[in-house]
Amino acid sequence: MSDCIFCKIVEGEIPSDRVGENDGAIAFRDINPEAPVHLLVVPRAHSKNISELSQDSESMDAVMSLMREVSEQHTNGHFKFLFNTGEEAGQTVFHAHGHILSQGAS
Ligand code: AMP
Ligand code: ZN
Repeated sequence: MSDCIFCKIVEGEIPSDRVGENDGAIAFRDINPEAPVHLLVVPRAHSKNISELSQDSESMDAVMSLMREVSEQHTNGHFKFLFNTGEEAGQTVFHAHGHILSQGAS
């Protein structure tokens, strides 16, 4: 997906404040945080939303595993996982991503 902003972040073509990665996913800080800790976890392979991502079990496992890891490392242990899906639900970037939102850093 040549015009996908999160594919470009995965490839390093656009800079990001990366906080973690594994074979199938990367984690970085949201550029417009809506909470004191606001991280995004995205699969390295493009898929448009959580529904499509869930059909690729390796990528899905990588995303969930990295969400667990970075939420333990970067929050106070109280956090939300959020997957906006579809424009009406507020999805603006159509490369699947999980938000981690927390009121406190670790
Ligand atoms: P959503 O509205 O669920 O599609 O979430 C997209 C999120 O990506 C928003 O919270 C944006 O602030 C964030 N975002 C967009 N561009 C960037 C970027 N270049 N680096 C980090 N976060 C970004
Ligand atoms: Zn993409």
